[in-house]
Amino acid sequence: MILIDGKKIAAGIRREIKKEVAEMLDRDVPAPHLAAVLVGDDPASRTYVNNKEKACREVGMISSVYEHPSTVSEKELLEVIGFLNHDPEIDGFIVQLPLPGHIDAAKVIRHIDPAKDVDGFHPVNTGRMVQGMPAYLPATPYGILQLLDKCGIETEGRHCVMAGRSNIVGTPLSILLSRKTSPGNCTVTLCHSRTSDLKKHTSRADILIAAIGKPRFFTPDMVKNNAVVIDVGVHRVESETSKTGFKLVGDVMFDEVSKKCSYITPVPGGVGPMTIVSLLLNTLKASRKEIYS
Ligand code: NAP
Repeated sequence: MILIDGKKIAAGIRREIKKEVAEMLDRDVPAPHLAAVLVGDDPASRTYVNNKEKACREVGMISSVYEHPSTVSEKELLEVIGFLNHDPEIDGFIVQLPLPGHIDAAKVIRHIDPAKDVDGFHPVNTGRMVQGMPAYLPATPYGILQLLDKCGIETEGRHCVMAGRSNIVGTPLSILLSRKTSPGNCTVTLCHSRTSDLKKHTSRADILIAAIGKPRFFTPDMVKNNAVVIDVGVHRVESETSKTGFKLVGDVMFDEVSKKCSYITPVPGGVGPMTIVSLLLNTLKASRKEIYS
């Protein structure tokens, strides 16, 4: 079994980004600027935004955060988006989800200029991705493609089972892996909560991608011998062995499943670090106007 070290792979990509940003500054080109819109005081959202800011700083990019109380109206938030769309100093921005219930998140996303939508959530970017046109790819699927690529994992002709069909992970990744590209050219089965006999599908997968958001759900009997297992899930669970009383686990029963697969991503240290680095790559592309010239 080979452990896919997402932390190490992400660190290598970050070094390349840092070098490119330094070269831009040498040529008097401004460093790429990523902004984040944060609404409310949800601790997990704040942590995600802090981590994105830190990652930007580490590679020499500029980051800024536009904070608003959870009482902000949809109209006010749309005005902020309009401002960011037109600010020439901001290359790309994200709206940290979830948003409070009184705000229509889909409407807010649709208001983002697709050229600055570095999360790749705008329907224009989704449509371009589906048609194989240049597009910002959503960070987690993009990160997983890079993990498969950097580890030299063959995908062509293999049967991939994507468990979970969210707009940010499962649906885009199922499309990306079925496209005529590398990584890609898989035969993809997309499973979800209404799939009958999930195990029948997962146990036939050459590549199993677990993104259902259920801790330690995938047991060894659900996984084929020598399968490649990519665990997207992240859950904080109680632990008697950890000093903090908590530890992070994924959607896969790691200790048991890892014994029978060819490759597996750990949690933490697998997919997570690749998600943030992919957002940085999208920001770099935005500053170079690679997707929308
Ligand atoms: P989500 O929006 O909650 O979607 C979960 C998907 O799993 C849905 O499509 C759901 O089906 C399906 N599902 C739920 N229970 C199922 C079951 N018993 N059998 C089969 N399918 C089932 O989740 P998400 O945003 O995609 O995230 C999934 C997990 O990945 C979470 O743990 C999240 O924290 C983690 N995550 C990690 C990263 C990272 O960077 N590491 C990034 C994003 C997400 P329906 O569509 O029928 O409801």
